[in-house]
Amino acid sequence: MKGKGLLKGMKITWQHFWGKKETVMYPEEKLTMTERFRGGTLDLNIDKCISCKLCEIACPNKALSLKVSIDEQKKRHLEEYIYHSGKCLMCDLCIEACPTKALEWDKNYEMFSYHRNSLDHDCKAVAEQKKAKADAQGVKSDE
Ligand code: SF4
Ligand code: SF4
Repeated sequence: MKGKGLLKGMKITWQHFWGKKETVMYPEEKLTMTERFRGGTLDLNIDKCISCKLCEIACPNKALSLKVSIDEQKKRHLEEYIYHSGKCLMCDLCIEACPTKALEWDKNYEMFSYHRNSLDHDCKAVAEQKKAKADAQGVKSDE
């Protein structure tokens, strides 16, 4: 039949016209990233981290800089944890290498910067701030 292709095309057009709208009104609306999305900055769980430096060793592009001190009792202390996002390949090797699952992506896809220096993230400081905030909220909720 002549015009069969046209009718088929029109049917699809009408289905999209009346169907569920897929457009996300960014920046008012944000997309929820999938579970396996790799991106944003590394979210360090300070309570789980044992300062073993395996993540730093596993990184193929030297995107992680850790400073660890060892006290008299041979206990390791994390002094600094810098993530250089400008060097990161999003390969996930650091996350896979972590024996305590202390690392994950924060999945923030709004990554932009005018200056190279601001591509470095102090993961330890961010983790400590988050922990302090959570503790403060915990204290409030107990009252
Ligand atoms: S994702 Fe890969 S490149 Fe990025 S910090 Fe981890 S190991 Fe390094
Ligand atoms: S591999 Fe995990 S536990 Fe070890 S230093 Fe890195 S984040 Fe901490």
